[in-house]
Amino acid sequence: MTPFRMLWATLLALVCASEASTNLPPNILSQLKLSPNARVHLRDEPGYATAVKRWQYWRAPDFAIIIDVANENDVAEAVRFANSHHIPFLAQSDAHGGTSALGNLEDGVQIRLRGLNSMQVSEDGTYVTVGGGIKGVELRDGLWKSNKWTVSGMCECPGHLAVALGGGVGILQGRYGLASDQIIALNVVLGNGTVISVSRHSHPDLFWAMRGAGQNFGIVTSMDYRIYDVPDDGKVWSHQVLTYEATPANVRKVFSIGKDMLKHDSQPHGMMIMGVITSSPDFDGKVVIEQHVVHNSPSSTLHHLTQPYHVLSPLTISSHQGTYLEIPRWFGVHDSSIA
Ligand SMILES: Cc1cc2nc3c(=O)[nH]c(=O)nc-3n(C[C@H](O)[C@H](O)[C@H](O)COP(=O)(O)OP(=O)(O)OC[C@H]3O[C@@H](n4cnc5c(N)ncnc54)[C@H](O)[C@@H]3O)c2cc1C
Repeated sequence: MTPFRMLWATLLALVCASEASTNLPPNILSQLKLSPNARVHLRDEPGYATAVKRWQYWRAPDFAIIIDVANENDVAEAVRFANSHHIPFLAQSDAHGGTSALGNLEDGVQIRLRGLNSMQVSEDGTYVTVGGGIKGVELRDGLWKSNKWTVSGMCECPGHLAVALGGGVGILQGRYGLASDQIIALNVVLGNGTVISVSRHSHPDLFWAMRGAGQNFGIVTSMDYRIYDVPDDGKVWSHQVLTYEATPANVRKVFSIGKDMLKHDSQPHGMMIMGVITSSPDFDGKVVIEQHVVHNSPSSTLHHLTQPYHVLSPLTISSHQGTYLEIPRWFGVHDSSIA
Protein backbone atom coordinates (compact mmCIF):
# COMPACT_ATOMS: atom_id res chain seq x y z
CA MET A 1 0.00 0.00 0.00
CA THR A 2 1.36 3.45 -0.89
CA PRO A 3 1.81 5.91 1.99
CA PHE A 4 -1.02 8.02 0.49
CA ARG A 5 -3.44 5.05 0.48
CA MET A 6 -2.36 4.12 3.99
CA LEU A 7 -3.17 7.63 5.18
CA TRP A 8 -6.66 7.45 3.63
CA ALA A 9 -7.26 4.02 5.14
CA THR A 10 -6.25 5.33 8.57
CA LEU A 11 -8.44 8.43 8.24
CA LEU A 12 -11.41 6.32 7.14
CA ALA A 13 -10.88 3.99 10.08
CA LEU A 14 -10.80 7.00 12.42
CA VAL A 15 -14.07 8.39 11.04
CA CYS A 16 -15.75 4.98 11.31
CA ALA A 17 -14.45 4.58 14.86
CA SER A 18 -15.83 8.00 15.81
CA GLU A 19 -19.22 7.27 14.27
CA ALA A 20 -19.34 3.92 16.05
CA SER A 21 -18.61 5.63 19.38
CA THR A 22 -21.73 7.78 18.92
CA ASN A 23 -24.08 4.92 17.93
CA LEU A 24 -24.53 6.44 14.48
CA PRO A 25 -25.00 4.28 11.40
CA PRO A 26 -21.64 3.80 9.64
CA ASN A 27 -20.65 6.37 7.01
CA ILE A 28 -23.63 8.53 7.86
CA LEU A 29 -21.57 11.71 7.63
CA SER A 30 -20.64 11.08 4.00
CA GLN A 31 -24.25 12.04 3.22
CA LEU A 32 -23.79 15.55 4.62
CA LYS A 33 -23.14 18.01 1.79
CA LEU A 34 -21.75 21.04 3.62
CA SER A 35 -19.74 24.02 2.40
CA PRO A 36 -15.93 23.84 2.75
CA ASN A 37 -15.90 26.16 5.80
CA ALA A 38 -18.46 24.14 7.78
CA ARG A 39 -17.14 21.84 10.53
CA VAL A 40 -18.49 18.65 12.10
CA HIS A 41 -17.59 17.40 15.59
CA LEU A 42 -18.55 14.01 17.00
CA ARG A 43 -18.44 12.89 20.62
CA ASP A 44 -14.92 12.16 21.89
CA GLU A 45 -13.41 14.32 19.18
CA PRO A 46 -11.33 17.42 19.88
CA GLY A 47 -13.58 20.47 19.73
CA TYR A 48 -16.70 18.63 20.94
CA ALA A 49 -16.41 19.70 24.59
CA THR A 50 -16.01 23.36 23.62
CA ALA A 51 -18.88 23.15 21.13
CA VAL A 52 -21.39 21.86 23.72
CA LYS A 53 -20.46 24.35 26.46
CA ARG A 54 -23.52 26.21 27.75
CA TRP A 55 -24.17 29.03 30.20
CA GLN A 56 -26.65 26.78 32.02
CA TYR A 57 -24.94 23.40 32.20
CA TRP A 58 -27.74 21.58 34.05
CA ARG A 59 -30.64 20.11 32.01
CA ALA A 60 -28.44 20.60 28.95
CA PRO A 61 -29.37 19.05 25.58
CA ASP A 62 -27.29 16.05 24.51
CA PHE A 63 -25.72 15.98 21.05
CA ALA A 64 -24.20 13.18 18.98
CA ILE A 65 -23.21 15.51 16.14
CA ILE A 66 -22.27 19.19 16.15
CA ILE A 67 -22.41 21.04 12.84
CA ASP A 68 -20.71 24.45 12.73
CA VAL A 69 -22.46 25.98 9.74
CA ALA A 70 -20.87 28.56 7.46
CA ASN A 71 -23.85 29.69 5.38
CA GLU A 72 -27.62 29.41 4.99
CA ASN A 73 -27.38 26.38 2.73
CA ASP A 74 -25.44 24.50 5.45
CA VAL A 75 -28.34 25.14 7.85
CA ALA A 76 -30.88 23.78 5.36
CA GLU A 77 -28.64 20.79 4.60
CA ALA A 78 -28.15 20.04 8.32
CA VAL A 79 -31.93 20.12 8.89
CA ARG A 80 -32.65 17.84 5.91
CA PHE A 81 -29.86 15.46 7.03
CA ALA A 82 -31.23 15.24 10.59
CA ASN A 83 -34.77 14.67 9.30
CA SER A 84 -33.73 11.97 6.87
CA HIS A 85 -32.10 10.03 9.75
CA HIS A 86 -34.86 10.82 12.28
CA ILE A 87 -32.35 12.59 14.53
CA PRO A 88 -33.68 15.49 16.66
CA PHE A 89 -31.93 18.81 16.02
CA LEU A 90 -31.55 22.17 17.74
CA ALA A 91 -30.15 25.50 16.57
CA GLN A 92 -27.65 27.16 18.86
CA SER A 93 -26.52 30.72 18.74
CA ASP A 94 -24.63 31.64 21.92
CA ALA A 95 -25.79 28.90 24.29
CA HIS A 96 -27.48 31.09 26.91
CA GLY A 97 -30.90 29.45 26.53
CA GLY A 98 -32.10 28.35 29.97
CA THR A 99 -35.29 26.40 29.25
CA SER A 100 -35.13 23.14 31.17
CA ALA A 101 -37.06 21.38 28.36
CA LEU A 102 -33.82 21.58 26.33
CA GLY A 103 -32.62 18.73 28.54
CA ASN A 104 -35.16 16.40 26.87
CA LEU A 105 -33.12 16.36 23.66
CA GLU A 106 -30.91 13.26 23.42
CA ASP A 107 -28.40 12.15 20.78
CA GLY A 108 -29.31 15.13 18.63
CA VAL A 109 -27.71 17.30 15.98
CA GLN A 110 -26.61 20.71 17.18
CA ILE A 111 -26.71 23.30 14.40
CA ARG A 112 -24.23 25.93 15.59
CA LEU A 113 -24.87 29.33 14.06
CA ARG A 114 -21.96 31.39 15.41
CA GLY A 115 -20.33 31.35 11.96
CA LEU A 116 -23.26 33.45 10.70
CA ASN A 117 -22.20 36.64 12.47
CA SER A 118 -22.06 39.13 9.60
CA MET A 119 -23.60 42.61 9.79
CA GLN A 120 -24.24 45.13 7.03
CA VAL A 121 -25.82 48.56 7.52
CA SER A 122 -28.30 49.47 4.75
CA GLU A 123 -27.46 52.30 2.36
CA ASP A 124 -30.10 54.58 3.85
CA GLY A 125 -28.85 53.79 7.38
CA THR A 126 -32.27 52.77 8.72
CA TYR A 127 -31.66 49.05 9.21
CA VAL A 128 -28.91 46.46 9.53
CA THR A 129 -28.84 42.97 8.06
CA VAL A 130 -27.34 40.55 10.59
CA GLY A 131 -26.49 36.86 10.45
CA GLY A 132 -28.51 34.45 12.60
CA GLY A 133 -25.60 33.75 14.96
CA ILE A 134 -24.52 37.29 15.85
CA LYS A 135 -23.99 38.10 19.55
CA GLY A 136 -25.62 41.16 21.12
CA VAL A 137 -22.23 42.69 21.92
CA GLU A 138 -21.03 42.29 18.31
CA LEU A 139 -24.13 44.10 17.03
CA ARG A 140 -23.88 46.88 19.63
CA ASP A 141 -20.15 47.53 19.08
CA GLY A 142 -20.40 47.28 15.29
CA LEU A 143 -23.20 49.86 15.16
CA TRP A 144 -21.52 52.19 17.65
CA LYS A 145 -18.60 52.64 15.21
CA SER A 146 -21.11 54.14 12.73
CA ASN A 147 -22.76 56.32 15.41
CA LYS A 148 -25.81 54.02 15.35
CA TRP A 149 -27.55 51.98 17.99
CA THR A 150 -30.59 49.77 18.43
CA VAL A 151 -32.43 47.71 21.02
CA SER A 152 -30.29 44.77 22.11
CA GLY A 153 -30.15 42.80 25.36
CA MET A 154 -28.53 44.65 28.23
CA CYS A 155 -26.25 41.67 28.88
CA GLU A 156 -23.46 41.40 26.35
CA CYS A 157 -23.39 37.63 26.15
CA PRO A 158 -26.59 36.13 24.61
CA GLY A 159 -27.06 35.54 20.91
CA HIS A 160 -28.99 38.49 19.48
CA LEU A 161 -31.45 36.47 17.37
CA ALA A 162 -32.75 34.44 20.30
CA VAL A 163 -33.10 37.65 22.34
CA ALA A 164 -35.05 39.42 19.57
CA LEU A 165 -37.23 36.39 18.74
CA GLY A 166 -38.15 36.09 22.42
CA GLY A 167 -39.25 39.74 22.79
CA GLY A 168 -35.93 41.11 23.99
CA VAL A 169 -35.44 43.63 26.78
CA GLY A 170 -32.59 46.14 26.92
CA ILE A 171 -31.56 49.66 27.87
CA LEU A 172 -33.14 51.36 24.83
CA GLN A 173 -36.55 49.68 25.02
CA GLY A 174 -38.08 52.79 26.62
CA ARG A 175 -37.14 54.82 23.53
CA TYR A 176 -37.80 52.39 20.70
CA GLY A 177 -39.83 49.45 22.06
CA LEU A 178 -38.81 45.83 22.50
CA ALA A 179 -36.16 44.11 20.39
CA SER A 180 -38.88 42.17 18.53
CA ASP A 181 -40.45 45.51 17.48
CA GLN A 182 -37.28 46.24 15.47
CA ILE A 183 -37.56 43.15 13.23
CA ILE A 184 -38.33 44.02 9.59
CA ALA A 185 -37.71 40.70 7.83
CA LEU A 186 -36.27 37.25 8.52
CA ASN A 187 -34.76 34.53 6.35
CA VAL A 188 -35.89 31.26 7.88
CA VAL A 189 -35.04 27.59 7.36
CA LEU A 190 -38.21 25.67 8.19
CA GLY A 191 -38.35 22.30 9.92
CA ASN A 192 -38.43 20.51 6.55
CA GLY A 193 -35.29 22.29 5.31
CA THR A 194 -36.96 24.76 2.94
CA VAL A 195 -35.90 28.42 3.08
CA ILE A 196 -38.47 31.22 3.17
CA SER A 197 -38.55 35.00 3.68
CA VAL A 198 -40.77 36.17 6.50
CA SER A 199 -41.99 39.76 6.79
CA ARG A 200 -45.13 41.86 7.00
CA HIS A 201 -45.71 41.02 3.31
CA SER A 202 -44.46 37.42 3.17
CA HIS A 203 -45.95 34.80 5.53
CA PRO A 204 -47.40 37.58 7.74
CA ASP A 205 -48.88 35.06 10.22
CA LEU A 206 -45.43 33.59 10.85
CA PHE A 207 -43.98 37.11 11.08
CA TRP A 208 -46.48 37.92 13.82
CA ALA A 209 -45.64 34.72 15.72
CA MET A 210 -41.88 35.01 15.42
CA ARG A 211 -41.77 38.47 16.99
CA GLY A 212 -41.97 37.28 20.57
CA ALA A 213 -42.38 33.51 20.42
CA GLY A 214 -40.09 32.89 17.50
CA GLN A 215 -37.35 30.52 18.56
CA ASN A 216 -38.96 27.28 17.46
CA PHE A 217 -40.81 28.14 14.25
CA GLY A 218 -37.65 27.78 12.18
CA ILE A 219 -33.97 28.67 12.17
CA VAL A 220 -33.30 32.31 11.30
CA THR A 221 -30.24 32.63 9.09
CA SER A 222 -30.43 36.42 8.69
CA MET A 223 -32.56 39.35 9.77
CA ASP A 224 -33.22 42.95 8.71
CA TYR A 225 -33.41 44.99 11.91
CA ARG A 226 -34.17 48.67 12.60
CA ILE A 227 -31.33 50.93 13.76
CA TYR A 228 -31.16 54.58 14.84
CA ASP A 229 -28.68 57.46 14.86
CA VAL A 230 -27.18 57.97 18.32
CA PRO A 231 -28.64 61.38 19.27
CA ASP A 232 -26.41 64.10 20.73
CA ASP A 233 -28.04 63.58 24.12
CA GLY A 234 -27.26 59.85 23.93
CA LYS A 235 -23.57 60.20 24.68
CA VAL A 236 -23.57 60.51 28.48
CA TRP A 237 -25.09 57.88 30.75
CA SER A 238 -25.02 57.37 34.49
CA HIS A 239 -25.92 54.63 36.93
CA GLN A 240 -26.65 54.31 40.61
CA VAL A 241 -26.92 51.12 42.60
CA LEU A 242 -28.49 51.37 46.03
CA THR A 243 -28.60 48.46 48.48
CA TYR A 244 -31.15 47.90 51.23
CA GLU A 245 -31.71 45.27 53.87
CA ALA A 246 -34.20 42.82 52.30
CA THR A 247 -36.99 43.19 54.85
CA PRO A 248 -40.59 42.76 53.63
CA ALA A 249 -41.24 46.46 54.35
CA ASN A 250 -38.20 47.55 52.32
CA VAL A 251 -39.15 45.28 49.40
CA ARG A 252 -42.58 46.91 49.33
CA LYS A 253 -41.26 50.47 49.60
CA VAL A 254 -38.35 50.13 47.12
CA PHE A 255 -40.33 48.36 44.40
CA SER A 256 -43.33 50.69 44.84
CA ILE A 257 -41.28 53.62 43.54
CA GLY A 258 -40.94 52.14 40.04
CA LYS A 259 -44.49 50.79 40.15
CA ASP A 260 -45.88 54.25 40.95
CA MET A 261 -43.89 55.78 38.08
CA LEU A 262 -45.54 53.28 35.72
CA LYS A 263 -48.96 53.97 37.20
CA HIS A 264 -48.64 57.74 36.80
CA ASP A 265 -46.62 57.57 33.56
CA SER A 266 -43.94 59.65 35.28
CA GLN A 267 -40.81 57.57 34.63
CA PRO A 268 -38.21 60.01 33.24
CA HIS A 269 -37.47 59.50 29.53
CA GLY A 270 -34.33 57.38 29.10
CA MET A 271 -34.45 55.85 32.59
CA MET A 272 -34.25 52.11 33.24
CA ILE A 273 -34.83 50.57 36.66
CA MET A 274 -33.88 47.05 37.68
CA GLY A 275 -34.19 45.61 41.18
CA VAL A 276 -32.81 42.27 42.35
CA ILE A 277 -32.99 40.50 45.70
CA THR A 278 -29.73 38.64 46.14
CA SER A 279 -27.29 37.18 48.60
CA SER A 280 -24.38 39.63 48.47
CA PRO A 281 -20.70 38.83 49.11
CA ASP A 282 -20.29 42.52 50.08
CA PHE A 283 -22.54 41.85 53.09
CA ASP A 284 -21.15 38.44 54.13
CA GLY A 285 -23.76 36.61 52.04
CA LYS A 286 -26.68 38.47 53.63
CA VAL A 287 -29.75 38.88 51.41
CA VAL A 288 -30.13 42.46 50.19
CA ILE A 289 -32.13 44.44 47.65
CA GLU A 290 -29.91 45.84 44.88
CA GLN A 291 -31.75 48.63 43.12
CA HIS A 292 -30.12 49.74 39.86
CA VAL A 293 -31.17 52.94 38.11
CA VAL A 294 -29.60 53.95 34.81
CA HIS A 295 -30.33 57.17 32.97
CA ASN A 296 -29.27 58.95 29.85
CA SER A 297 -27.83 61.98 31.72
CA PRO A 298 -24.83 63.00 33.88
CA SER A 299 -24.54 61.66 37.45
CA SER A 300 -25.66 64.98 38.95
CA THR A 301 -29.03 64.72 37.14
CA LEU A 302 -29.47 61.07 38.09
CA HIS A 303 -28.67 61.86 41.72
CA HIS A 304 -31.57 64.28 41.69
CA LEU A 305 -33.91 61.76 39.99
CA THR A 306 -33.12 59.00 42.51
CA GLN A 307 -34.07 61.09 45.58
CA PRO A 308 -37.14 58.89 46.32
CA TYR A 309 -34.71 55.96 46.77
CA HIS A 310 -32.34 57.99 48.97
CA VAL A 311 -34.98 58.79 51.57
CA LEU A 312 -35.43 55.04 52.22
CA SER A 313 -32.01 54.95 53.99
CA PRO A 314 -29.97 52.69 51.68
CA LEU A 315 -27.05 50.76 53.21
CA THR A 316 -24.80 51.84 50.32
CA ILE A 317 -25.00 54.01 47.20
CA SER A 318 -22.49 53.82 44.37
CA SER A 319 -22.50 55.83 41.15
CA HIS A 320 -20.93 55.63 37.70
CA GLN A 321 -20.85 57.89 34.66
CA GLY A 322 -19.68 57.00 31.15
CA THR A 323 -20.87 56.00 27.68
CA TYR A 324 -23.65 53.66 26.60
CA LEU A 325 -21.05 50.91 26.06
CA GLU A 326 -20.12 50.87 29.75
CA ILE A 327 -23.61 50.11 31.09
CA PRO A 328 -23.34 46.26 31.17
CA ARG A 329 -20.18 46.55 33.29
CA TRP A 330 -21.99 48.72 35.85
CA PHE A 331 -24.67 46.02 36.12
CA GLY A 332 -22.01 43.29 36.31
CA VAL A 333 -23.38 41.56 33.17
CA HIS A 334 -20.55 42.19 30.73
CA ASP A 335 -18.61 39.52 28.91
CA SER A 336 -20.19 36.36 30.30
CA SER A 337 -19.02 34.74 27.10
CA ILE A 338 -19.57 31.29 25.69
CA ALA A 339 -18.24 31.83 22.17
C1 LIG B 1 -26.59 35.71 31.48
C2 LIG B 1 -27.86 35.99 30.69
C3 LIG B 1 -28.19 37.29 30.39
C4 LIG B 1 -29.35 37.58 29.66
N1 LIG B 1 -29.66 38.89 29.37
C5 LIG B 1 -30.76 39.19 28.65
C6 LIG B 1 -31.08 40.56 28.31
O1 LIG B 1 -30.38 41.50 28.68
N2 LIG B 1 -32.21 40.77 27.58
C7 LIG B 1 -33.02 39.75 27.16
O2 LIG B 1 -34.02 40.01 26.50
N3 LIG B 1 -32.74 38.46 27.47
C8 LIG B 1 -31.64 38.16 28.20
N4 LIG B 1 -31.36 36.85 28.53
C9 LIG B 1 -32.27 35.80 28.08
C10 LIG B 1 -31.91 35.43 26.63
O3 LIG B 1 -32.67 36.27 25.78
C11 LIG B 1 -32.28 33.98 26.30
O4 LIG B 1 -31.67 33.13 27.22
C12 LIG B 1 -31.85 33.63 24.87
O5 LIG B 1 -32.62 32.52 24.47
C13 LIG B 1 -30.36 33.28 24.77
O6 LIG B 1 -30.01 33.15 23.42
P1 LIG B 1 -28.65 32.41 22.99
O7 LIG B 1 -28.53 32.50 21.52
O8 LIG B 1 -27.49 32.91 23.78
O9 LIG B 1 -28.92 30.92 23.48
P2 LIG B 1 -29.11 29.55 22.68
O10 LIG B 1 -29.17 28.51 23.75
O11 LIG B 1 -28.09 29.40 21.63
O12 LIG B 1 -30.52 29.72 22.00
C14 LIG B 1 -31.69 29.83 22.79
C15 LIG B 1 -32.89 29.32 21.99
O13 LIG B 1 -33.04 30.09 20.81
C16 LIG B 1 -32.94 29.26 19.65
N5 LIG B 1 -32.18 30.01 18.65
C17 LIG B 1 -30.93 30.53 18.75
N6 LIG B 1 -30.58 31.16 17.63
C18 LIG B 1 -31.64 31.03 16.79
C19 LIG B 1 -31.89 31.46 15.45
N7 LIG B 1 -30.98 32.15 14.75
N8 LIG B 1 -33.08 31.13 14.88
C20 LIG B 1 -34.02 30.43 15.57
N9 LIG B 1 -33.84 30.00 16.83
C21 LIG B 1 -32.66 30.30 17.43
C22 LIG B 1 -32.23 27.99 20.12
O14 LIG B 1 -32.59 26.89 19.33
C23 LIG B 1 -32.74 27.86 21.55
O15 LIG B 1 -34.01 27.25 21.56
C24 LIG B 1 -30.21 36.53 29.24
C25 LIG B 1 -29.87 35.20 29.55
C26 LIG B 1 -28.71 34.93 30.26
C27 LIG B 1 -28.37 33.51 30.60
